Amino acid sequence: MNIKCVIIGDRSVGKTSICNRFVYNTFQALYAPTIGFDLFSKRIIKNNVEYRIVLWDLMGDQELRVSRKDYYMGAMCALLVYDVSRIGTFQHIPDWFEELKINLGKNYDIPCAVVANKQDLENKKMIDNSKGEKLAKKYNTIFWPTSAKTGQGVGEVIIELVTEVISK
Ligand code: GDP
Ligand code: MG
Repeated sequence: MNIKCVIIGDRSVGKTSICNRFVYNTFQALYAPTIGFDLFSKRIIKNNVEYRIVLWDLMGDQELRVSRKDYYMGAMCALLVYDVSRIGTFQHIPDWFEELKINLGKNYDIPCAVVANKQDLENKKMIDNSKGEKLAKKYNTIFWPTSAKTGQGVGEVIIELVTEVISK
């Protein structure tokens, strides 16, 4: 069974880094903005059943919003990522929920997670995790602090969502 998971959020919040960490367990400090979209996949076995988790790493460009429908089609879970060191990326999370809803139409009710990435940037942290938790609650989703740099939370949040998908 394939499990399609979309990773969304503003530019440079760490979407591609989260995918790289999950699939290859690596991290690159160099910034290479995503052109188009990338697919990352990883096989997992749960209760003796093999699943292929396919992460869809989307572009951050707002202006390309109209052509995104194909990327969202059939999404079974979603990570909505913000960067704890940039307040705007947090403020845009409701817009990303809205975009998800618009593109998924009647199938919009999928397991989601609000992901607070770059937790390692302790001194530059602008958004308290309690705020992220509150926002997640408002959308009836889970909240997860992560760092693609250290690996904190990355595997856990994806497996948590996948488990929700499987048990649905
Ligand atoms: P994307 O545009 O959302 O795909 O973001 P990228 O994954 O390309 O990351 C943007 C920049 O943030 C890169 O320079 C990454 O190295 C950096 N970055 C991503 N995740 C983290 C993290 O958890 N901690 C820190 N300190 N930097 C990160
Ligand atoms: Mg990217």
